[in-house]
Amino acid sequence: MSQTIPATLIEGDGIGPEIVDATLAALEALKAPFAWERASAGLAGIKAAGDPLPQATLDSIRRTRLALKGPLETPSGGGYRSSNVRLREEFKLYANLRPARTIVPGGRFENIDLVVVRENLEGLYIGHEHYVQIDDDPHAVAMATGINTRAGCRHILDYAFEYAIANGRKKVTIVHKANIMKALTGIFKETAEQMYEAKYKGRIAMETVIVDACAMKLVLNPWQFDVIVTTNLFGDILSDLVAGLVGGLGMAPGANIGADAAIFEAVHGSAPDIAGQGKANPVALMLAAAMMLDHVARKDLGDRLRTAIDRTLNVDKARTGDLGGSASTGEFSRALVARIVND
Ligand code: NAD
Repeated sequence: MSQTIPATLIEGDGIGPEIVDATLAALEALKAPFAWERASAGLAGIKAAGDPLPQATLDSIRRTRLALKGPLETPSGGGYRSSNVRLREEFKLYANLRPARTIVPGGRFENIDLVVVRENLEGLYIGHEHYVQIDDDPHAVAMATGINTRAGCRHILDYAFEYAIANGRKKVTIVHKANIMKALTGIFKETAEQMYEAKYKGRIAMETVIVDACAMKLVLNPWQFDVIVTTNLFGDILSDLVAGLVGGLGMAPGANIGADAAIFEAVHGSAPDIAGQGKANPVALMLAAAMMLDHVARKDLGDRLRTAIDRTLNVDKARTGDLGGSASTGEFSRALVARIVND
């Protein structure tokens, strides 16, 4: 049938190996076309190669231009810089796509189906930060610089509009804080309005919303939104909020798309509090794998995986603890594989 597609596999830290194993079992049952190159990063990278982002891992992704990645641990405050942020910079992964869809009914919100498109390279994430010492306090003042460029705004806005149109979406919401950060996020709003007039008017609806109002509206009436596009930090926060609308981080996949590569992952982190206990929900990473199948033009397999996940959760009622169930990661995974094989 299809040819083999080389892809890099990073297990990651904490619950990473458990959810990657479960996801690989599902992909194997689907006969997904990936030929995996295993590589390490994060704490596992330090253990294996003395580096949270080993050269061999970068070389592998440069070859395959495609990766599935478990969560990587990043120390807060001091310590090494996030390998996730370094990967985004290295492969210019400018678009972070985070869809949220209700799969398990009966939560606080029904029938949610929206997508957050987050700018992934600029804004306050560029790491230009420093402290200023006053008297004997070396941390008396903390400073950060944010940078948003016209080119970067165009890139992500084009991606969001084109994605929305290609996927039959109705509206793109531009989220900003241009009333206060008039330059830093004003450039994003201004560029969106110019591009809409020049290129997208008549093809799709657009609105602009200030980020704080957007957070409130998402909780009061999330159904008014369709595709949300925003700058790096706002996108990080809003996509977790949106994940909460559909049952939490265990259900939230993400794709990092760039000119040079695409890396698929769960939105959540390494969950050290439950690592190694067989409690982790593998659905977020499985949904990321489904996005990866869409990306390599195997939407047929992506759809089969999504359908099998829906049925395992809702017909077989196999659910991990975060969804109120009692299934272990392995039990959920075996039920899902049975669905894939038998349906
Ligand atoms: P986290 O997402 O790891 O965990 C937050 C809470 O959600 C925890 O209670 C955890 O048990 C739960 N949770 C997360 N995923 C789950 C799953 N699949 N199933 C069931 N419960 C789940 O966030 P954190 O604790 O703030 O971060 C832990 C580490 O992960 C940090 O080092 C952080 O830097 C890193 N991190 C990595 C990524 C990534 O690699 N993309 C993303 C976010 C955080």
